[in-house]
Order: sequence, then structure tokens, then C-alpha cells
Amino acid sequence: MNDLHHCIFCRIIKGDLHAEIVYQDERVTAFWDIHPIAPVHILVVPNQHIESVNTVSQEDDSILGHLIITAGQIAKSQGVENSGYRLVINTGPDAGQSIFHLHLHLIGGRHLSFRSQ
Ligand code: 5GP
Ligand code: ZN
Repeated sequence: MNDLHHCIFCRIIKGDLHAEIVYQDERVTAFWDIHPIAPVHILVVPNQHIESVNTVSQEDDSILGHLIITAGQIAKSQGVENSGYRLVINTGPDAGQSIFHLHLHLIGGRHLSFRSQ
């Protein structure tokens, strides 16, 4: 279920569902992905329920900026600042978006291929 009231990520943000939270402020929450694909795999999400990049509007520009700035700070705190990392936002079926609460994947800690798929 992906509506606001059953949204897994809204429940994590509210503290109703357990997650390994690494950072939270009044606008964003960051927590470890339950199925990590790399040594560092953290999801950074807006506390506000936004479905995807398809539904963002100009009024969301500040939260979207804050999402990336926060991801950069977490990358530093996780020690992947220099080794490198990738920020990914999957949108829609071809990208395999499975949770319809906007989230930015912070992935690092190993070499990441890009053009192989
Ligand atoms: P998407 O495929 O939508 O871009 O990414 C959704 C991500 O959420 C997946 O990487 C998946 O492993 C993660 N995920 C799904 N359910 C949960 C959960 O209950 N807790 C946590 N921490 N991560 C989840
Ligand atoms: Zn939500």
C-alpha cells in the first residue's frame, strides 16, 4: 500500500516502524536500507509524503535541495566522501521504484559500475 496512511516510510518517519535511523531533522529522515546493495546504503527521505519526482512541484525546491545536502553530509559521516558514492532516485516502473514515498539512495563503499545495465 502506498497511500499516506499505509506508507512504510511515513511510518518509519513517525517512529511507528523500526528502522536504523542515521539522521533526522524537521524536514528529512535518513535510515539504512533493509536490503543494502553496498557497504553503505542509506535512504534519505522527506518527512513530508511526496510520491515521486513526478509529483514534486516548484514549492518543493527547498526540501529537494536539503535532501541532497543532507546526503552529502551523511556520505562524509560514513567515510565515503573521498572513495565516492552514488545518489539515486528511482522513478516509475522502468527504474524499479517500489516505494511511492520519494527517497534518495546513498550508495557507496564499493566500486559501482554504471553502464553495464
Ligand atoms: P526503490 O526500489 O523504491 O527505489 O527503493 C525502495 C527501497 O526501500 C529498497 O531498496 C528497499 O530495500 C527499501 N525498503 C523497503 N522496505 C523497507 C523497510 O521496511 N525498511 C527499510 N529500512 N528499507 C526498506
Ligand atoms: Zn509516505
